[in-house]
Amino acid sequence: MLAASRQFLKPRSGSRFFQSHYGAWIDGKEFNPPNAATYDVEDPARRTKLCTVLDADAAVVDKAVKSSRAAFESGSWSRMDVRDRAEILNEGARALRKRVPEFAEVESIQTGRAIREMNAQLGRLPEWLEYFAAMIRTHEGTCPPFKGNYVNYVKRVPLGVAGLITPWNHPMLIAIKKIAPALAAGNSIIVKPSEFAPITVLEFAKLMTEVGLPNGVFNCVAGQGGCGAALSGHSDLDMVDLTGGTPTGRKVHAAAGENLCTVLSELGGKAPMVVFNDADIDQAINGTVFGSFIATGQTCIAGTRLLVQEDIYDEFVARYVEKVKKIGIGDPQNPNTQMGPVINQGQLDKVREFCSLGVQEGGKLLCGGKQPDGLGAEISNGYYWEPTVIGDCTPDMRVVREEVFGPVIVAYSFKDEADAIAKANDSDFGLAASVWSKDIKRAHRVADRLDVGIVWLNDHHRNDPSSPWGGMKDSGVGRENGIEALHEYTQTRSVVVGFDDTPFDWFIEGDARYG
Ligand code: NAD
Repeated sequence: MLAASRQFLKPRSGSRFFQSHYGAWIDGKEFNPPNAATYDVEDPARRTKLCTVLDADAAVVDKAVKSSRAAFESGSWSRMDVRDRAEILNEGARALRKRVPEFAEVESIQTGRAIREMNAQLGRLPEWLEYFAAMIRTHEGTCPPFKGNYVNYVKRVPLGVAGLITPWNHPMLIAIKKIAPALAAGNSIIVKPSEFAPITVLEFAKLMTEVGLPNGVFNCVAGQGGCGAALSGHSDLDMVDLTGGTPTGRKVHAAAGENLCTVLSELGGKAPMVVFNDADIDQAINGTVFGSFIATGQTCIAGTRLLVQEDIYDEFVARYVEKVKKIGIGDPQNPNTQMGPVINQGQLDKVREFCSLGVQEGGKLLCGGKQPDGLGAEISNGYYWEPTVIGDCTPDMRVVREEVFGPVIVAYSFKDEADAIAKANDSDFGLAASVWSKDIKRAHRVADRLDVGIVWLNDHHRNDPSSPWGGMKDSGVGRENGIEALHEYTQTRSVVVGFDDTPFDWFIEGDARYG
């Protein structure tokens, strides 16, 4: 189904918000070295150029790291009173909240994500800054029961300089999930947004400088190819935090390991949605279609494996497919559009290949599997793909085992609870899952057996700054959100205070105490 067309809101090129060229953001200002290489950022719905961006190389990355290190050592942020630090984060939240419509518009244009999604998603992002501001104001150290006449107090202190590397699917959400706890903890950061969608994160670095974050505390370098590798392999980082694909995760862990640097990684997924025959079928259909196709299926926790109990499989999948066929594809800027294009030619090729592969492997194409027709002249060249469902799959198929990261869902059945758990867990990934059942005991029992970091019961895709986020197995190491995130971005300093007045000399001769 095509969404009704509407006049396209062009980005306000040249306005304060949207620039025709972006450099790196270093030391509180834009940095553009002379004769440096640039690259184009594209609108995936139109395949038109949006702006150019400095292609930050290893020298630019090094400059950013040196600036962050100097800012950290200066104590301008790392030793600022936590109440003042929290106030600047809250100021950032207020400034961002006022500008959500502008950020959402550009986020939608650079990613191709429907504007209704970006308004909803970006409207919540100030909460991450507020949550971690509140956390540092209220966080208390510990005082372990050290034996003897000692008081032992343990404080959490920042790690130092952190490199944050982020993907294109939720550019602002994923960046802020990392930026908020990293800054709250007192670190200095260098953010490397995806080359495909760097604009809003570069703008956010500027916004945080405007609200009083000291220069150098938040630097931002966008670049293709070697930029992320130059950052993750930099010898003066204390932490690297990556959200990206599992192959990138392996490279980043290896590079950071050389420098004995802390690594947090949020990687790929292949989330199962397990639908039992006692589920509320109407709600399960609405919820699983949402879980599968929000963000054009380009999310790490997308419900890409639809596992349905065998006695309701035919009916459930038929109704699921009917709903999928009604998803409104169109111009991301149109508020009626429910699904936009995928991000680029590479993703479109990958989606096409996996659809063919699924059918070759024995799956049954139930809907989609092609580019949509009749999109209208303006977006007819965009990287669009119809939401696709491949039924009657088996666990050994590549389309079932590998991450497609697009609107391609595989469906297969299970017999009973044990079979559901076995099939859901039969994956290299372990990020997220949902369980659909009205039997509360069964739902919790199954949740307890799934090898994943996040389980939703009768829901999918929900996220909150307070709720731990991260994967098991090949889906990554560590957790975002909540107190876990503050712990990830800090280390402990344990101070042991002796208060015994008895004179002490270990090397005194003939003292019975030491005999
Ligand atoms: P990607 O791995 O291609 O790129 C992610 C980031 O890493 C980009 O900024 C990229 O420039 C950079 N990068 C690439 N090669 C690098 C290297 N060798 N060293 C350092 N940095 C490098 O991923 P993508 O295509 O941007 O995003 C899609 C992937 O991200 C999917 O696999 C998806 O599942 C995953 N993801 C995971 C989560 C999560 O929370 N677990 C959330 C969103 C996306």
